[in-house]
Amino acid sequence: MIHLSKIYKTFKLGKEDVTILKNIDFTVESGEFVAIMGPSGSGKSTLMNILGCLDKPSTGIYQLDGTDVLASREGALADIRNQQIGFVFQTFHLLPRLSALQNVELPMIYSKVKKKERREKALEVLSKVGLSDRVSFLPTRLSGGQKQRVAIARALVNEPKFILADEPTGALDSKSSAQILQLFKELNEEGVTIIMITHDQEVADQADRVVYIRDGELLVSEKGAIPSA
Ligand code: ADP
Ligand code: MG
Repeated sequence: MIHLSKIYKTFKLGKEDVTILKNIDFTVESGEFVAIMGPSGSGKSTLMNILGCLDKPSTGIYQLDGTDVLASREGALADIRNQQIGFVFQTFHLLPRLSALQNVELPMIYSKVKKKERREKALEVLSKVGLSDRVSFLPTRLSGGQKQRVAIARALVNEPKFILADEPTGALDSKSSAQILQLFKELNEEGVTIIMITHDQEVADQADRVVYIRDGELLVSEKGAIPSA
């Protein structure tokens, strides 16, 4: 479904070019749960931004279900981001003045879903993440784990092709972290494709497959084993 080939990403730092991603080949099939691990500064978020169509590589190929993503115009890319990809971030990124329900409805407003259908779908996904009794709460009245559940509900609401999660448990205590991980596992068992960036080995152990990024290069390994450099 997702196919990256020979991806390079170079940033200009003053007069110097710094290559952050080097020759990345990465394929994800529908239904997989893949963890991406690597030290701080290794290029994980840069890769996530490319996968999420938030940034373009310097060179390389990105195909999503056969579509050449990098040849798409900005309008088409915005549609891919909104309709085909669900984002979950470490710090939740909820809008503080909107209730849980309104936060979850937001992506459907962008995709022009009618109000009644929006409400029904938002309530359905909030129920799925276990928040039926919190729908009218503002984010400030929710715990960290609950905020992340709202963010996951929001990521699911347009029924994306895959979920991209960047350190989704990084801001949570260990109990909430385990619960959020369990939720991701359940969603994956129902068929949701998940790509999760983490530097927590326990989190990565839950994935079907782990890839490691080190100095901008992707190292593929068997589940759980850190490949030698
Ligand atoms: P990670 O998420 O693995 O911690 P990042 O992908 O955020 O790493 O960053 C990898 C490297 O790329 C870092 O050295 C960072 O400073 C550099 N970098 C990221 N974005 C930019 C940018 N827009 N301009 C210049 N350098 C960047
Ligand atoms: Mg990062």
